[in-house]
Amino acid sequence: MPGFELFGDAERKELNDVLENGVLMRYGFDGMRNGHWKARELERALENRFDVKHAQLTSSGTTALNVALAVMGVGAGDEVIMPCFTFVASFESILASGATPVLVEVDDTLTLDPVAVEAAITPKTKVIMPVHMCGSMAELDSLKAICEKHDLLLLEDACQAFGGSYKGKMLGSIGDAGTFSFDFVKTITCGEGGAVLTNNSDYALWADQYSDHGHDHMGSDRGAETHPFLGYNFRISELHAAVGLGQISKMDDFIGIQRRNHGIIKEALSEIPEVTFRRIPDPEGDSCGFLNFFMPTAELSNKVVDAFAEFGIDAYWNYYNNNWHYIRKWDHFKEMKSLFPLSDQIKKGMERLKNQSFPQSDDLISRNISCLIKLSWTEEEVKDRAARMAAAIKSIL
Ligand SMILES: *Cc1c(COP(=O)(O)O)cnc(C)c1O
Repeated sequence: MPGFELFGDAERKELNDVLENGVLMRYGFDGMRNGHWKARELERALENRFDVKHAQLTSSGTTALNVALAVMGVGAGDEVIMPCFTFVASFESILASGATPVLVEVDDTLTLDPVAVEAAITPKTKVIMPVHMCGSMAELDSLKAICEKHDLLLLEDACQAFGGSYKGKMLGSIGDAGTFSFDFVKTITCGEGGAVLTNNSDYALWADQYSDHGHDHMGSDRGAETHPFLGYNFRISELHAAVGLGQISKMDDFIGIQRRNHGIIKEALSEIPEVTFRRIPDPEGDSCGFLNFFMPTAELSNKVVDAFAEFGIDAYWNYYNNNWHYIRKWDHFKEMKSLFPLSDQIKKGMERLKNQSFPQSDDLISRNISCLIKLSWTEEEVKDRAARMAAAIKSIL
């Protein structure tokens, strides 16, 4: 990733279909559109590729989470369990639903720690939201067992693990619902866009209606539609969906390139005894969009960052020092800097969070380095990069 590296003729052809008839809206205008329904076509492609009954496109990965939580009936008074290492969209979508985010530790998979999840369950818990961070998956069997035991719903945020799988099933298709982002830096991009996947036909119907103002989508006269419930506008446009159609036609190539490049770098770093790798619950299912490794101490991982700069290595993160992905730097969230008043329930939950510490995650995230695996690198370039990365790490040991 990111998919924009290999933007080309396939995307241009799909876009041209839309530009030629000028129907940029995904619904209606049947007579004008010359048979082109790019959003619908991308939804069918997702259903086929992910072996799931329903896919609903949305305007972003964040709004896909909003829609998924809404169709699951999550709202005021509910709690949603999420990891403390994720993207800010996780708590944004929970807060937007009116529910309270409950943050728990990650383990050496860099995703939800099932032990921490079970300890955080209260009578108000409604959903467990694992985030398959940096290309690889959470312990889904354990999380599913916890959901069954406590009668909870499982919502997979698979935005960073497009094309990965767990025990033969595609990530995003395993929980009660799953979400993807197709923003500009994801494995396949629409420019902006997202999707909700589900096998639950009630959720699918409600997602279709909720993401378009609650319109019932019965018949072809939009003006005559009724509204079974309140909704919002979380629609994707035909232009964005067209780009996604071009991209998804290359999905197998993208994942193949990621796996090749990831393999070359991992092999080079495996020769260094101080380097360890994140645990992957199903190694065959790693989408390989990132390679995450740990140094024995935070001090050494900081030194590796300096050495990478010296050896001309780019495209990596140390999330402990990053503003977007780890609770340590989410001051706006911890201090609840909201433009509008939040419910007492949420405020109480946030007071709890202020006093909460995450020693296990602090240790893991501070020692972690996460390398982006690019699609545009040739095999020769990856081999050269892998050798320089290994040399950089050895230089500080
Ligand atoms: C990118 C991302 C999102 C949000 O997607 P947008 O399309 O940018 O709104 C949500 N969760 C994770 C883990 C992400 O990486």
